[in-house]
Amino acid sequence: MKLFDSHSHIDDICFKKDFDAMLQRAQDASVHGIMVVGINEKTSKKAIELSKDHRNLITSVGVHPHDASTCSDDVIKKLEELALNHSCVRAWGETGLDFNRMHSPSDVQEKWFERQIYAGANLNLPMIFHERDSDGRFLEILESANIKKRKGVVHCFSGSKEEMFKYLDLGYYIGITGILTIKKRGQALRELALLIPEDRILIETDAPYLTPAPKKNKVRRNEPGFVKHVFQKLAAIKNADEEELSGIIWQNTENLYGAL
Ligand SMILES: [Zn+2]
Ligand SMILES: [Zn+2]
Repeated sequence: MKLFDSHSHIDDICFKKDFDAMLQRAQDASVHGIMVVGINEKTSKKAIELSKDHRNLITSVGVHPHDASTCSDDVIKKLEELALNHSCVRAWGETGLDFNRMHSPSDVQEKWFERQIYAGANLNLPMIFHERDSDGRFLEILESANIKKRKGVVHCFSGSKEEMFKYLDLGYYIGITGILTIKKRGQALRELALLIPEDRILIETDAPYLTPAPKKNKVRRNEPGFVKHVFQKLAAIKNADEEELSGIIWQNTENLYGAL
């Protein structure tokens, strides 16, 4: 069985001490591909550095909605150069809107979200989208974007059924996190996950955040190896053959990000 953690932040300082051991645990859990997602210029660069020594790692460049206040034309230009010069860069993101935490003002988030949709499209990179509580603005901006080809994933999906079907209609993948495994918080997601066509599902940890059950009771920090628990929960609720489903999801991830 081969699993792909399609979204992680293992450049985070909390992995510094046991980075190689953490990657080994991922291997042991059949996790043979890991996407390291950038949230600003610094982390985009760090992800690229990490991938140099580890061939199972691929990366993205982008500015997270929380970090939108720090974005500028100059930052976008630097990210474009990073993408052009490093073959490990397989996606643009994460970008989008997060009106839950409001770490950056909404108009600033919208401005740089739109700008990054075009930056990714110009480089022909798939997009990694982050959406939380944007009250329809995320979809409005996305739908009105004048781009020819749409390729991307709405990571850590937490929206409504209607939103999910709109994402699917636009051609995007849906990223499922460990929320799926959480008893109460995951209830709605478990129902919606059953409605996603199999060829459009990705699994992810969003490590170090969102530790899935049952690990969540033992450790606070999430790590790529734990995507196995997300996968097993998904297979269980779908009543699917694990071998078969893991093959489909691996292929989905490579269809989006390119072959590992
Ligand atoms: Zn995110
Ligand atoms: Zn993330």
